[in-house]
Amino acid sequence: MGEFELISRYFASSGAKRSDTTIGVGDDGAVLQVRDGYDLVVTTDTMVAGTHFFPDDDPRALGHKLVAVNVSDLAAMGAEPAWLSLALTLPNVDENWLSAFAAGLHETAEYYNCQLIGGDTTRGPLSLTMVAKGIVPRGKAISRSGASVGDYIYVTGTLGDAALGLRLCQGVHQVSKKHQTHILQRFHYPSARVALGQALRNIASSAMDLSDGLYSDIQHIMARSKVGASIDVGKLPLSQALKDSCDPATAIQLALSGGEDYELLFTVPEARRGSLDVLLSPYGIPLSCIGRITGVAGKLELKQAEQQYAYQHQGFTHFS
Ligand SMILES: [Mg+2]
Repeated sequence: MGEFELISRYFASSGAKRSDTTIGVGDDGAVLQVRDGYDLVVTTDTMVAGTHFFPDDDPRALGHKLVAVNVSDLAAMGAEPAWLSLALTLPNVDENWLSAFAAGLHETAEYYNCQLIGGDTTRGPLSLTMVAKGIVPRGKAISRSGASVGDYIYVTGTLGDAALGLRLCQGVHQVSKKHQTHILQRFHYPSARVALGQALRNIASSAMDLSDGLYSDIQHIMARSKVGASIDVGKLPLSQALKDSCDPATAIQLALSGGEDYELLFTVPEARRGSLDVLLSPYGIPLSCIGRITGVAGKLELKQAEQQYAYQHQGFTHFS
């Protein structure tokens, strides 16, 4: 058995088996059925060793994270995840690494009801690329370009935990024992807000997922929607673990600049704000209103208690 045949063995059977997959792994291409009245949503994410993860990171967690970050992009579009393709570049064939990576990938794919429908393997520096495809009722995908002046800005969950997890792994920040599991979980095993993303289809005017940090990410919505934004840093949702581990200014710094939280950032027009709590409470994910969309295109204002908040932005780099 050749090396690459061996590798393909780990990915031959996928997590979920979907009835809308005509041909999956093993042919020259996959054949997929897109339901009548639905649009196909496609997204790609790459994770490179030394840039996005440590080469000796737990391969099972990497398999999970690769699926979760791709599915998170689908969630941000309001799409239902369906299919995954994998492009794997490996420096050598390590069966223990491969079987753990595949296990993490398969169990997470199954959790999100995604089927692995193909891929490619090459030799080179360790790099993981995934293409995720999802479906959304025609015209209902949520883009970054629909925010209007006066819309309320919301985020799901809590912010800054993954950035603290990275700093804990790097040994540059202490976290008390009782919070370590939570913080490391948030960094290594992010959740994609899939059900909530779909529930936002008829509520949100724009949405995206938080991969690079709120301060950078919201500027994508501002640019695509040609608007500005005003954020009250006092309203940023911070976990107890983050608050107990950092002084207040550092906690806000991590919540604004820290990447990889994979929470959803979205805007809601005033008229639809009333239905938000009712429609979204079944999902059990906390929502926080952190500000408003403003008319000054490209201007991001940070406030705290009605005062200008002094903030020096340092972009999120995974390893710095
Ligand atoms: Mg994204």
